Amino acid sequence: MCPRGARLVTGEGGLFERAKLVCHCLLIEGADGLVLVDTGFGLDDVRDPRQLGRVFGALIGPRLNALETAASQIRERGLDPEDVRHIITTHLDLDHAGGLPDFPRAEVHLLGAELEAAMNPGWRDRTRYVAAHWAHGPRWVTHEGGGEEWYGFDGVRVLPSSEEEILLIPLIGHTHGHTGVAVREGDGWLFHCGDAYFHHGEVATPPHCPPGLAAFAAIDQVDAEARLSNRERLRELAARAGGEVRLICSHDPLYLQARAPLSSVPSAG
Ligand SMILES: [Zn+2]
Repeated sequence: MCPRGARLVTGEGGLFERAKLVCHCLLIEGADGLVLVDTGFGLDDVRDPRQLGRVFGALIGPRLNALETAASQIRERGLDPEDVRHIITTHLDLDHAGGLPDFPRAEVHLLGAELEAAMNPGWRDRTRYVAAHWAHGPRWVTHEGGGEEWYGFDGVRVLPSSEEEILLIPLIGHTHGHTGVAVREGDGWLFHCGDAYFHHGEVATPPHCPPGLAAFAAIDQVDAEARLSNRERLRELAARAGGEVRLICSHDPLYLQARAPLSSVPSAG
């Protein structure tokens, strides 16, 4: 996504340059199939960008490229998108749920409050959700928070009968049912925090965030108090357990560069 005002959004580049944000998804090769965390934009969005809405297109400047969709990147790695058995969504915003139609057979896990909000959006939320993303009738599996204590957070295990240790960690505020997703990784955890924060500096100590991104986060939220208190809890978590828990968020390109440069995927025009 390439909104104008790079310096205000990422802290780097010119004031009128376009920023470059990513939609960070995770793919887990599990013992019994693939698990995808968030789906970014999908092939239907590439075919018909108008379904994302004109305001979103003008403000956020998405560079829609079929090769960058989750389905294409799974194929690129020699895997079969049909083997995606489970999708876990941090929330159903258009830039996270666009790929759902590309995996019609997968079970889609999320918090009940998020499904409720997306199916019955109030007037303020109508632009964040795109009904075409679930017109195929996904196999929703809703979860409620609680049950598993995780570093002081309330977690719920998503696939209790599988070997994969994946927890939903509710982080309400950006949306009504927004959740982080903690994935066991060796001795530690990879914690995808979705849109609970936008810039790596927000969970640093002391925290900092480029002003444009901070302003955007403050507009694009349903519960300011909950969002800010959850963000503070994430900063504390990073400070005390940073060695065991690696935090990432959806849109900061730094995390994607650090993890796996997309050298084989042509960059969006
Ligand atoms: Zn987002």
